[in-house]
Amino acid sequence: MKFRKELTGLKRIVVKVGSNVITKKNGKLESRKIRRIVEDITDLIDHGVEVILVSSGAVSLGKYYLKVHMPRKGRIDLQHSASAIGQPKLINTYSRIFEENQKLCSQILLTHDDFRDRKRFLHAKQNINVLLKNNITPILNENDSISFTEITVGDNDHLAAQTAQMVEADLLLVITSTDGLYNRNPEHPDACKIDYVPFGSDLEQINFEGSTSDGRGGMESKVHAINKITPLGIKAIVSSKDNERMLIGPLVSQMGTYFAPKSTYNPEERKAWLLSMKKPNCHIEVDKGAYSALIESKSLLPKGIVNVEGEFYKGDCVDIICNGEVFASGICEYGHGEVEQIMGNHSDEIEDILGFRTSCEVVHTINLVLEKDRENEKVS
Ligand code: GLU
Repeated sequence: MKFRKELTGLKRIVVKVGSNVITKKNGKLESRKIRRIVEDITDLIDHGVEVILVSSGAVSLGKYYLKVHMPRKGRIDLQHSASAIGQPKLINTYSRIFEENQKLCSQILLTHDDFRDRKRFLHAKQNINVLLKNNITPILNENDSISFTEITVGDNDHLAAQTAQMVEADLLLVITSTDGLYNRNPEHPDACKIDYVPFGSDLEQINFEGSTSDGRGGMESKVHAINKITPLGIKAIVSSKDNERMLIGPLVSQMGTYFAPKSTYNPEERKAWLLSMKKPNCHIEVDKGAYSALIESKSLLPKGIVNVEGEFYKGDCVDIICNGEVFASGICEYGHGEVEQIMGNHSDEIEDILGFRTSCEVVHTINLVLEKDRENEKVS
């Protein structure tokens, strides 16, 4: 498979399909479309690309079975019930079609809290990574049957963008009812499709009225969601549900609208964010060997830990000290009680000691920030 030039080296993508892609006007499922989506995912997996699918449709499908008229806004109770009916039907259909293609899929339902709470965020991320390693496609949706307005992600465009950020995807592919972003309502005779959006473009001028409105998203919401991830170096494409190769088409040819990411994305920006979440009065003390390893950008393993102070839990960011001096901080994969039990031991022994092992590292290098002066030590 030869990807378009902007996507050279593509390894991991988040695909978002809207309700209007996979359900008909009356809410019934468009099984043909689901089949196309699954076939393309299967093809991508066979070409070494990891795919995470964010699929809407549960509420529309559930409405069909509830047989009540539900206004788009309000009647949250009915949306909850509709989703409770629609979600299992949706995932059953996906599951059946994946199996027909000799593949497996899985279901993960998230709320906004899962992105805010570091521990839940890490669990979700870890879960998705394990599924992908096993060639099982994670299918995500908002957990609408328990999401209330104050914790709702808002719509699946944002859920997909947050997911792309969480799994460090190369690309977010949004499939919708139009073939891309237009400079005005696509039905207007003067409307022009925009093929390429350079990073930092001002899209404020666009009048989004009349663009796709099924589901809770709409084109404006897609553009907002995409604007959150392009600064992080993640590319995005908005493309149509009506292409024969719905997912693969825009990856191998110039279909849809391509949103270029910031080319100079600096992972250190993320580290600044990690630091802003540091848990006070907690630290992990390490020996000289671990100190040198961390300075060389390696991860912190239990073996090099000599002491633990304070009460912290998986997902908390704590100081890391050596000889009484703080030289780094990082997000822990284990809580203080667990670290106390495994410190000084080899990573292979974690499972025997704790009865489980979620990670070989206590702090993974991608979640580690060295103090400024130690960064220099590393360079010299
Ligand atoms: N989560 C909703 C569903 O599955 C859709 C939300 C949206 O369309 O953005 O029906």
